[in-house]
Amino acid sequence: MRFRSTNSNDETVSFKDAVLGCLPADGGLYVPDKMADIRQIILHMDEGAGFHDLFTALAPALFADDLCPQSAPLVAQSAFNFEPELVRLDDDYSLLDLSGGPTGLFKDFGIAFLAAAVEELRKDSGRHLVLAAARGDVGVSMAHAFSGRRELNAVLVYPSGPIRGLDPSAFVPNGGNIIPIQVRGTFDDCQRIISETIRDREFASRYNVTSANTINVGRLLPQTLYYIYAFIKAKKHLSGGLAFSVPCGSFGNFIAGLYAWKFGMPVNGFIAAMNSNNVMGDFFKGMPFVPRPLTATNSPALDVRIPSNLSRLESFYRESPAVMRNMVHPAGVGDELTLMTIEYVWKKYNRHIDPHTAVAFAAAEQVAASRHWKGHTHTVVLATGHYAKYPELMHEATGKKIPSSETFRNLQKKTDPIALIPPQLDAFENAIASCF
Ligand SMILES: *Cc1c(COP(=O)(O)O)cnc(C)c1O
Repeated sequence: MRFRSTNSNDETVSFKDAVLGCLPADGGLYVPDKMADIRQIILHMDEGAGFHDLFTALAPALFADDLCPQSAPLVAQSAFNFEPELVRLDDDYSLLDLSGGPTGLFKDFGIAFLAAAVEELRKDSGRHLVLAAARGDVGVSMAHAFSGRRELNAVLVYPSGPIRGLDPSAFVPNGGNIIPIQVRGTFDDCQRIISETIRDREFASRYNVTSANTINVGRLLPQTLYYIYAFIKAKKHLSGGLAFSVPCGSFGNFIAGLYAWKFGMPVNGFIAAMNSNNVMGDFFKGMPFVPRPLTATNSPALDVRIPSNLSRLESFYRESPAVMRNMVHPAGVGDELTLMTIEYVWKKYNRHIDPHTAVAFAAAEQVAASRHWKGHTHTVVLATGHYAKYPELMHEATGKKIPSSETFRNLQKKTDPIALIPPQLDAFENAIASCF
């Protein structure tokens, strides 16, 4: 499969160039040019196949010559020491549990793959620096994914505020390959400094700089795989249609599902589940996108003012407008219903779900009721976060205390960066240079 910019149809690039280039020069985002058609593989894949098997079977179609058949299983192995799990609740619902990674977030899948892919694509071409703006658990996920990779250094650029969850033994001064740098400024300052560094040709070529931004296609493609994985596990039990309900913030996870459909996965609908910041609801009904002020909710990963994948959604709908009208169902869920849904799922199925998953579950119930899906459309709800990260909320919703998890407690530990700098390019480049 080749990739093009959302702003132009003329030029296409390989997977390797899209991953290492991260962003096209014309200000768009990379999207698949002609979608791979892998319907036959999807339909005939054995139900017992593991996530690594699926990855290996689909890699030739998705990554073409950039990941040869011999290296695909090795990349899968080096990326994923965790797997998605499909949990069937009843005839109407399953949960696709994506919280098995090091930070308990679905984002671990994309980040883990990106790190393994960059290592493979850069093999034997000298040392490279991968820059990423980081906040919260995403920085921890990056540190896990890049730690110990050959000839790679990951520079995690943090905005002001506490830095939590990193393991100092993985830092460069302690013999590791991770370089956390804190900028006195905002997340936007971090992203600006990264772009400026990449455009500083002399520095960028001396240190072989690339970026692992959230909009890198290397993070999106592995996310398509767990939708297909869920289909393969669910298909035997399906008597009617299949839908997915996805809690949406920047809409990266959601667009990955639409790509899985384009690749040939049989599916009848996608629910775009939002909290009270449901500004994209109008967009899906065919109106132009207009940003609105944010309100803070109990599902904070969905509090996004301008989704970073907006131009990918627009590009998708220019090509497939019928999908938008017939297959995508937006729904907004408030805080109170989110809490009630955590309680409902606990009482009915004896399962804890995190607040983002609860938004998706409640949205699925709303859409199923309004479209009369009960009894003949099975909905897979994406469980994007681990419930044990929200002990107080779980207690409030279910009245039960949950056992505290050491992994998630460690995510709260404060760490010092190796440098604290003003938000300026020269300070940033000097901090990097001092590591070598
Ligand atoms: C990031 C995140 C989301 C939203 O995913 P997007 O790809 O940004 O739409 C949903 N749930 C959890 C737990 C998250 O961390």
